[in-house]
Amino acid sequence: MVKKSHKSVKKGKLTVMAGPMFAGKTTKLLTLFSVLSNLGYNILCFKAEAKKINGMGHTNSHDARPLPVIYVGMDQPEKILQYVGEDGIDKVIIDAIHFFPKNRILSVVKKLLNCGIDVYVNGLIYDYRKQLFGATRALLLMADEPFELFSVCVRCAGKADHTERIAGGIDQRIGTTGPQKATYIPVCSRCHKIYQG
Ligand SMILES: [Zn+2]
Repeated sequence: MVKKSHKSVKKGKLTVMAGPMFAGKTTKLLTLFSVLSNLGYNILCFKAEAKKINGMGHTNSHDARPLPVIYVGMDQPEKILQYVGEDGIDKVIIDAIHFFPKNRILSVVKKLLNCGIDVYVNGLIYDYRKQLFGATRALLLMADEPFELFSVCVRCAGKADHTERIAGGIDQRIGTTGPQKATYIPVCSRCHKIYQG
């Protein structure tokens, strides 16, 4: 990276929005992007993508406002450092951070913070099997500004902190976009059933 980590660099701030699907995580990122862009900050937005190609695109929250993003392969989180290394970037947004391998994305985030870059991420805490998903929980615990978001359970209308898969195969890392798609619903822990394929 161009920005060198030395003592005079103030560490960046980590903001984490975590929770199940349909809790408004991407909408919050879109709002952040809009506000920070208007304030004149240089921001890069990234999103983990299952397909191997990298490139530009847009992501949509469930209310369909687009966010310009650079797609990064799930197994290539270090690509984020290459893009940011072109310098002049104040803030980095990472959408769907759970898809990246835990230790490698933690290392990427720490490097960005040590370069004085503010990092905003969102992610699922749990996968559809109710297991911790990627680095989301670890990042939530180390965040300067942690936000745990919830949805509404579609079965009992209670507070939903889990995401249940109801179609789309049993591979853990399948989102709602990309070549392979799965279907999900927000549910509470008591109503959650583990999809068996
Ligand atoms: Zn419920």
